[in-house]
Amino acid sequence: MSRKLKAGIAVLIGLTILGAILYRSAPVQDALMRAGAAAALSNVPETFDGLQVVVCGSASPLGNNPDRAQACLAVITPEHFFLVDVGARSPMRIAQAQLPMNRLTAVMLTHFHSDHIAGLADVNLASWVAGRRASMQVYGPEGVETVVAGFNQAYRLDRGYRVAHHGEKLLPRSAGPMQANTFQPGLVWQDDNMTVTSFLVDHSPIDPAVGYRFDYRGRSVVISGDTNASDSLFAAAAGADIVFHDALARDSLDIMQNVMAESGRSGIAQIIADVTDYHADTRVLEEAANAAGIEQLVLYHLVPTPMNSLTEPMFLRGLSDKTLLAHDLQVFELPPESEEITIR
Ligand SMILES: [Zn+2]
Ligand SMILES: [Zn+2]
Repeated sequence: MSRKLKAGIAVLIGLTILGAILYRSAPVQDALMRAGAAAALSNVPETFDGLQVVVCGSASPLGNNPDRAQACLAVITPEHFFLVDVGARSPMRIAQAQLPMNRLTAVMLTHFHSDHIAGLADVNLASWVAGRRASMQVYGPEGVETVVAGFNQAYRLDRGYRVAHHGEKLLPRSAGPMQANTFQPGLVWQDDNMTVTSFLVDHSPIDPAVGYRFDYRGRSVVISGDTNASDSLFAAAAGADIVFHDALARDSLDIMQNVMAESGRSGIAQIIADVTDYHADTRVLEEAANAAGIEQLVLYHLVPTPMNSLTEPMFLRGLSDKTLLAHDLQVFELPPESEEITIR
């Protein structure tokens, strides 16, 4: 071994020991904790003037990847903040993305499968603690009142504990329970700059299931929820800047189904087979999006949830380079009255 190499190894060992000592030192820990807490105060998306979409969940219930939360997309402008679906683990992503929970406009649900609603109670608590002074508004098609009433009942005792512990001034009791808003497909929400419309999609046998279109200062974003490639969606999405569409990688699913069947797991094989006809096969999506004049197609709610970057390309087989696969915490920025889309 050369003298240079020996010296290098000695320095490396020295630095490792020093690092271990520093990490165990209370003042160093306190300084790191202080920096972390201060960083949590900054709100990255608040600096942008147009329409933003933040991916707060890109997974489906099939497959477990801790890097992907279940269905959740945040639509944010300087005046609005909508969450479209809040699946399991999405509250963690919302916190990591430092989304402005103090000014949450509403939660919009596409349908009531568990992977779209599991995070409701945590989102309600997070926005209440962040300073919301009135009930969190939850919009959805027929059935949303049942879901909201159930969550409100299940978390009634929890709300009582929070108010008793922190006081009415911080957590107004009346803002604790969520409020359901049932709509028929069509116009859902509107003000001077923003129009939110909903349309029926084909998630049969689940009915109703809807998607949403957000129009803000000359920009538009469409979110599919769960659906097969459906004409109603592409009609509603005509000319949109971005469509976020649920996506099914048929080749991956077929392999999973075969492996389960061969190993005697007939129940899971059956579930996988059932899933194939109510999500959109990626191979037909791109063509439909191009025909509808959609600028950018982004695949999310990935079925099955890819486990790593090696299985991700299975969603993009046969597609052009333009179609994207969503990743958690990705941000899409659409400046007003322009055609630009920035992804970071
Ligand atoms: Zn569903
Ligand atoms: Zn789903």
